[in-house]
Amino acid sequence: MAEDCLFCRIVAGEVPASRVAETARTLAFRDVNPQAPTHVLVIPKEHHRDVAALVAADPALLSELMRAATGVAEQEGVHESGWRLVFNTGLEGGQTVSHVHGHVLGGRRLGWPPG
Ligand code: AMP
Repeated sequence: MAEDCLFCRIVAGEVPASRVAETARTLAFRDVNPQAPTHVLVIPKEHHRDVAALVAADPALLSELMRAATGVAEQEGVHESGWRLVFNTGLEGGQTVSHVHGHVLGGRRLGWPPG
């Protein structure tokens, strides 16, 4: 667990979250500021700064995270209508929490490009 990491604290149960799915190594919970009817964050329980750090350190865990995201899309009923998986990375990528997380978005027609 990284010091002062919000998502590590959610994993530890120190900060409440609306959990929707969990495996031994991943956790999915609802974003507090949803941008779509389905907006769920999928994270590895282990701390990695961003997706680049994760794939370098543990590609199997990134694969597990992708599987978790797909499971969330199915569970939320958006797997057929369509959904999006976004990893904001770094400052200009819009990343505000430095613990890798994928945004699973769906339930409405999503625009492109993002703002
Ligand atoms: P990003 O900007 O890609 O780093 O995404 C961080 C996301 O975390 C934002 O969409 C926030 O709304 C969300 N967020 C921040 N704090 C919490 C929290 N305590 N529980 C759930 N989601 C959160």
